[in-house]
Amino acid sequence: MEKKTQYDPSAFERRLVEKEFLLRLSQDIHVINDLEKALQIVSDSMSELFETDSAAIYLVESKDQIYLAASTPHVDDSYPDEFRFAKTEDHPHIKKVLDSRELLYLPDLNKVKLSDAELLIIQFGDIKSLLYFPFIFDNEVIGLIIFGASARVRKFSEYEVELGRNLADQLSLWIQNAKMRQELIKNNDELKRQIKEKKKVEAELLESKAQLSDALRLSRMGHWSYNIQNDEFIFTDEFYELFHTSAREMGGFKMSSAEYMERFIYPEDQHIIPEEVKLISENRDPNLTRYLEHRIIYTDGGVGYIAVNVRLEFDENGTPSRAVGVNQDITPRRKAEIANKEVTKSLEESEYLFRTFFNLSDEGIFLVTPDGKKFLQINDAFARMHGYQVEEMMEMTLFDLDVNGENTIKFNPQISEQIESGKVVTAEVQHLHKDGHVFSLSVMIQQLEIKNEEYLLCFHQDLTERKLYEQNLLNALEKAKESDRLKSSFLANISHEIRTPLNAILGFSKLLCGSELLEKEKNEYQSIIEFSGKRLLGIISDIIDVSKLDSNQISLNYDSCHLNELISKLIAQYRDVASNKGIDIQMRFELPEDACTIRTDKYRLSQIISNLIDNALKYTNEGSLEIGYRLQEDEVEFFVRDTGIGIDPKYHEMIFGRFMQVDNDFSRAGSGNGLGLSIVLGLVNLLGGRIWVESELSIGSVFRFTIPFQPIDDLKVSDYQSDHLMKNSKEFNILIAEDEDTNFLLLEAFLEPYRCKIYRAKNGEEAVRLFHEHRNTDLVLMDIKMPMLNGIEATKAIRKVDKSVPIIAQTAYSQSDDRDKALQAGCNHYISKPIEEDKLHFILSTIFSKSAN
Ligand code: ADP
Repeated sequence: MEKKTQYDPSAFERRLVEKEFLLRLSQDIHVINDLEKALQIVSDSMSELFETDSAAIYLVESKDQIYLAASTPHVDDSYPDEFRFAKTEDHPHIKKVLDSRELLYLPDLNKVKLSDAELLIIQFGDIKSLLYFPFIFDNEVIGLIIFGASARVRKFSEYEVELGRNLADQLSLWIQNAKMRQELIKNNDELKRQIKEKKKVEAELLESKAQLSDALRLSRMGHWSYNIQNDEFIFTDEFYELFHTSAREMGGFKMSSAEYMERFIYPEDQHIIPEEVKLISENRDPNLTRYLEHRIIYTDGGVGYIAVNVRLEFDENGTPSRAVGVNQDITPRRKAEIANKEVTKSLEESEYLFRTFFNLSDEGIFLVTPDGKKFLQINDAFARMHGYQVEEMMEMTLFDLDVNGENTIKFNPQISEQIESGKVVTAEVQHLHKDGHVFSLSVMIQQLEIKNEEYLLCFHQDLTERKLYEQNLLNALEKAKESDRLKSSFLANISHEIRTPLNAILGFSKLLCGSELLEKEKNEYQSIIEFSGKRLLGIISDIIDVSKLDSNQISLNYDSCHLNELISKLIAQYRDVASNKGIDIQMRFELPEDACTIRTDKYRLSQIISNLIDNALKYTNEGSLEIGYRLQEDEVEFFVRDTGIGIDPKYHEMIFGRFMQVDNDFSRAGSGNGLGLSIVLGLVNLLGGRIWVESELSIGSVFRFTIPFQPIDDLKVSDYQSDHLMKNSKEFNILIAEDEDTNFLLLEAFLEPYRCKIYRAKNGEEAVRLFHEHRNTDLVLMDIKMPMLNGIEATKAIRKVDKSVPIIAQTAYSQSDDRDKALQAGCNHYISKPIEEDKLHFILSTIFSKSAN
């Protein structure tokens, strides 16, 4: 049977009260977002409704923890914490409600066992009865409201209990909602705070990123990472800035190692990149870091230097997966280092150069204190020029060297002043050599400041040689002046010398043309002409010899020479002149006839001896001449001694000079040209010997000269008995090619002593023809200058048919190249015009002796 609910006016009333209360309450708390404020209203309202002395709403925070959310009367922050926060276990009756989820009614607390915490509160409020209503939501107790009656035990009616239960159920939902809303609001605030926080962090992050970027830029750094598996670099803006470029220009932030190497690395350093990639990809050392420096190329083409720091990251297998690094542009530093190195190097070089210069310099250099008492440095040259070792000198002072000591130029007040004012002072000083001799030096002094101390730097040059040189120059100047003077006087002399015989020749030749001359006068005139001619020839020969000696044109003709015979013959030529002056001539030969043949130029030796005999006779009026030779080790020493006027010793050297004549009556009388002895000296030197004179005034002179002694076995030279051979041998056929009649007649006369038949040709063509006609020709005397065909061509033509016939070329003095040409064309000898008889005889003797054998 259906139980029918009966209308119950009190129940309705109760519900009414309940609804009204709730309505009011909900109106009051609806607008309140703050849970605690709302619960405070609940607490106050419920306490009022139930007419209790106190009410308290606890909310469950966790299983073990509750807290007082609201109370009537209100418990604010000034109450002890024990009133507001509690552990559930300290409040066994609250715990009971929480566990049982049922209301609890304690009408008389005097009969209930209470915990300390419960007692504290009970006693505080003097509470006698308590009624607990749990707030239940979703089967969980989320809190509870406790009503307390003070002073007396309060009895709650059933209705009150029912009402309380209903209200608690209603409030549970609301509390839960309010809690959730509160939670939401709280979460929302937290979210907002978090968002705000996040924004702040982000802003800070951006800020620090910008700061990092600035720092990187400032320190010229750029970072990157490198994926080892993909071979892919990821660069940053700063990294690109290092290379003066950007990601936009490079087409992004990614690049392979090959591309990176190609674009940015200096060619000679490119090998580093693959080497490093290999090294890091094979590495297993977790702590490995790499530092390298290499050259780069900026995108604008310049070359720079970077330092690279690399760190590795590994995957879970311990294989390197990523390299991260920072590049720093160290160009300014490296350039400074290089410049520094260069500066150091150039300093070292200049120091080395200075040392070398100091040590190797020919100039004597030293550094000394301004008082001259302590040397700091002395170079070898300075010590050497004084005969000391550097170490010895370092112990000395400047005053030990300078002969002027304290008065030396360097300490002259005026000069010191100049030195102190920084001027370079030069002067000449006299120093003492270790061996005691004094020598001159030029000195250049400058004051220097080294490490705040003053020093004198001095450069010295030894003037000894220069002084000598200056003296020699002065002597040479004197000599030049003298020789100029001599030349002028010689020219005056020579013109007189030439004019005298020329006048005689011209004058007497004219007289000879006169028809009324007696035979005796004719002979006399002829002999004067002949004498004058010879004298003229002598003068010209001398001048020519001098110029030949000067121009080195005298070539020697070495051959065998029988000394005794040569000198005997020469003396024979002078016997008449000597006996006319009442002078006797004697000979002194050291070597016997069969062992006196030497190798020399016979013609030049005769010339030397003749000259000396000429002079001896010229400067001797009475007494005798002695001529001969002796052997002196490997030399033959010839002498020509006279008892003549002698020569003052002061002239002994001078007389061998060009144009030198002793100032005496003989010389002044114009009896010579002053060339004879200088020619003799030149010839003796040419033959490899020396000449000198020993003489005393009024007593006489001995002229001595040497030539090398080169003996020849006499048996081999018997063929040089030319005269004998010539005169006793068969008849020779001689072809003379000569266009000038006088020259031909002279040659004919010279050949007279020989047994010979002579053919004459007046030009080259005729010479060749005559040679063909007379193939038994024994000798050809060939003039070089001839009409039709000259001597050179004629000689060549003859040589074509006959290689052996001796041909003697006759050349002019002035034409030295004629001689060479003649010899080249095939001539065996040459003889200069005017032809000298002796020379011709000499050549002929050589040729005929050979052909006679
Ligand atoms: P010179 O033609 O003047 O003789 P030298 O050169 O042959 O020229 O001689 C130079 C000078 O030497 C002569 O002028 C003469 O004063 C002196 N002299 C040469 N030989 C003798 C000598 N035997 N006795 C004295 N004085 C001589």
